[in-house]
Amino acid sequence: MNFEKSEQLFEKSKRRIPGGVNSPVRAFGAVGRTPLFIDHAKGSHITDVDGNIYLDYVCSWGPGILGHAHPEVVEAVQRACADGLTYGAPTEKEWRLAELIHEAMGSVEKVRLVSSGTEAVMSAVRAARGYTGRDLIIKFKGNYHGHSDGLLVKAGSAALTTAVPDSSGVPVSYTQNTLVALYNDPDSVKELMEKYGKQVAAIILEPVAANMGVVLPQKGFLEFLREITRQYGALLIFDEVITGFRLGYGGAQEYFNVVPDMTTLGKIVGGGMPMAAYGGRAEIMDMVSPAGPVYQAGTLSGNPVATTAGIATLEILKAHPEYYRELERKARRLALAFAERAKKTGEKLWVNQIGSLLSVFFTEGPVQDYDSALASDTKAYGAYFGEMLDQGVYVAPSQFEAMFVSAAHTDEEIEETCKVICG
Ligand SMILES: *Cc1c(COP(=O)(O)O)cnc(C)c1O
Repeated sequence: MNFEKSEQLFEKSKRRIPGGVNSPVRAFGAVGRTPLFIDHAKGSHITDVDGNIYLDYVCSWGPGILGHAHPEVVEAVQRACADGLTYGAPTEKEWRLAELIHEAMGSVEKVRLVSSGTEAVMSAVRAARGYTGRDLIIKFKGNYHGHSDGLLVKAGSAALTTAVPDSSGVPVSYTQNTLVALYNDPDSVKELMEKYGKQVAAIILEPVAANMGVVLPQKGFLEFLREITRQYGALLIFDEVITGFRLGYGGAQEYFNVVPDMTTLGKIVGGGMPMAAYGGRAEIMDMVSPAGPVYQAGTLSGNPVATTAGIATLEILKAHPEYYRELERKARRLALAFAERAKKTGEKLWVNQIGSLLSVFFTEGPVQDYDSALASDTKAYGAYFGEMLDQGVYVAPSQFEAMFVSAAHTDEEIEETCKVICG
């Protein structure tokens, strides 16, 4: 395989764009390779500028559940473009998408459309604070909620209570209202709630963590969070930016049958366009301006083209409930291939899989929280990544990202991938 054009473009881009990319993980830093510059993609395949074709399991980090350039979505978007790219005024499409979201997730009685997952979570937290009149939020170590200042926090290992910024440029004062608990560890939550419960506006989490690799909630963990937030009058926010419309049409809340007060959505909800959403109980969302005193706005919010892509994608998913069973079956087949690989190579591998999300960790496991995910041998992951890429399979260029299966992946392609996995 030749990567000459990608290498040249990366060098040129580095001179004009920090690190040569517009989002850090794209730089392939964690796997020691040159990032692929993409020319085009169709269905389950993605083609780089050197003409190399890969089976794509990154799927743009989640949005691509139908595969790339789904003809119905593309056609709808093209028609929408011809009608104007943005008006800065309400459209029927925004109402339509809000209805679709509500139909999928009954807990989202009212919803606001925004342009990125970061914006959705930032705004949801603001609404939760406005509604409860409280300042503190609790998040979980290893859960990612976008890059807004107050959420760019990982607890220092000794410090469950004092959150430290995870990024330069974030004043410590901006993170002082963020408390950090441990995923799948109810005691860490209890401890914080006993101390600060009456000041806690919300507990926010990824109901299935997918930004430290895929980590499933242990049995009863989500129910416990539902219960303890009720007990203290705090809100429960599910960040379903990845899980929404992926674990099932109704997201993680349907899959686990636990109803949050608020939900954030992104990725699939925009069908590949910049679109995200936050919503929840009507009385909470009615705090948002102009209905209420919590300010939030956006020039391109509910953009007609992005809204069209979202509607087209959700309508296809809604019409094909069987997709979710198929996706789960395919992902399970891939998980099995990793088990076969481990038997063959003697590598210590651990696989977490749920629905169409999976991660292989290069560790004995089990991987159930951030610290056990960190036990993974990232060098071994890098080698595996290179091995896959050189055989035409594009997986996440980081141990701590998920492998995504799309409806466009055929059984033959899954079997092909299994062969590559098994080596
Ligand atoms: C991707 C992601 C975000 C951030 O969304 P952006 O659109 O990248 O800003 C937030 N939460 C979760 C769970 C995500 O996976």
